[in-house]
Amino acid sequence: MSELAYPYEAPASQALFDRAAAVTPGGVNSPVRAFRAVGGTPRFMVSGSGPYLTDADGREYVDLVCSWGPMILGHAHPEVVAAVQEAVARGTSFGTPAEGEVALAEAMVERVAPLEEVRLVSSGTEATMSAIRLARGFTQRTKVIKFAGCYHGHVDSLLAAAGSGVATLALPDTPGVTGAQASDTIVLPYNDLDAVHAAFAAHPGEIACVITEASPGNMGVVPPLPGFNQGLKDACAANGALFVSDEVMTGFRTSRAGWYGVEGVVPDLMTFGKVMGGGFPAAAFGGRADVMAHLAPAGPVYQAGTLSGNPVATAAGLAQLRLLDDAAYAKVNAVSEQIQGLVTEALSKEGVAHTLQTASNMFSVFFTDGPVRDYEDAKAQESFRYTAFFHALLANGVYLPPSSFESWFVSTAHDERAVQRIADALPAAARAAAEATA
Ligand code: PLP
Repeated sequence: MSELAYPYEAPASQALFDRAAAVTPGGVNSPVRAFRAVGGTPRFMVSGSGPYLTDADGREYVDLVCSWGPMILGHAHPEVVAAVQEAVARGTSFGTPAEGEVALAEAMVERVAPLEEVRLVSSGTEATMSAIRLARGFTQRTKVIKFAGCYHGHVDSLLAAAGSGVATLALPDTPGVTGAQASDTIVLPYNDLDAVHAAFAAHPGEIACVITEASPGNMGVVPPLPGFNQGLKDACAANGALFVSDEVMTGFRTSRAGWYGVEGVVPDLMTFGKVMGGGFPAAAFGGRADVMAHLAPAGPVYQAGTLSGNPVATAAGLAQLRLLDDAAYAKVNAVSEQIQGLVTEALSKEGVAHTLQTASNMFSVFFTDGPVRDYEDAKAQESFRYTAFFHALLANGVYLPPSSFESWFVSTAHDERAVQRIADALPAAARAAAEATA
């Protein structure tokens, strides 16, 4: 990479990163934050307001990560902050049932028709892990089908060919996952129904569920081809397996009812996180009432959590969901389209081969001639161009995901000023991408 890749410094972030590296592996609490894929100093943020983040050096960025999805109303939305302050003042955790968790579950069930019952947890990882356990308990089967490039959190059995940070760091598989755990996972190419039918034929009566990202965003944005999700649902139904749709990223983001609201395919189980927590650790899994009835204490499949349904997290999530009406989605979709147009225009002007893919208001740019239909296509992109593009935007106050295998996220708070900042920064970034060498 050229020396010009980082024509700016971030001394306060660097000092914090050095301190962090002494007490935390790699200096971060989640790998993609470390900037390993793009190089340079990760920015330590001190505050967020609307579409902006401010780092420890006092620089302001238009945020196109939105905490990896949750901040769909922007940072520190006054009504969400007020709900949190009100909840905090009443106590931060009771270890008992409380009304807030009922209200959040009701709001979710009201919006997402296939969600008959829901169980709250604290992270998307916990949601998918629990959904898989429930699917196995319900079907009395062991095997799980997942797709290469889909990330479902760091659940042992689901880390095979996971996208996101695993893709970013080019880890083939992770040490610490046993052969037994991995051998119950069947990894198939995304968007390939023939492979799914072949797997069911090869393992009759053994497959508990198929889990898929409702519309993948962890290998960059790679939407399902028409009929793919319905095909999965049909294959599961025909073979006595459950169809588990992971909406941790898409849920309450891609529409009022998530990706289900876009496509209408009815899963047996669904998982949620991110938006429903309003920036706090709240997540959930749910679906068919007859399946959920197998969960403790109603049924035998154990699942629990000290902080599940936490009153502060549920207050934040509920406040955020209440603000997410049709007008809010129209706004996020419109600003997303506006930014997509600007990116395409800038890259086209510089003659940079690229493919911009969308899933409602989620989008990402692949530096390759498209289309990108699966993980192999995604990996074939010229990621070195993304690195140059990323740093040029960062230097000009635009914060992109620090990896080419991630979705970009916008919010209702991305206004004209924020969009103009992006528009101003794009030409130089497109030039940097054009001039980049591997
Ligand atoms: N599932 C999907 C589709 C995700 O995108 C993620 C996180 O990015 C997860 C599950 C895991 O969620 P968490 O990071 O809250 O554990």
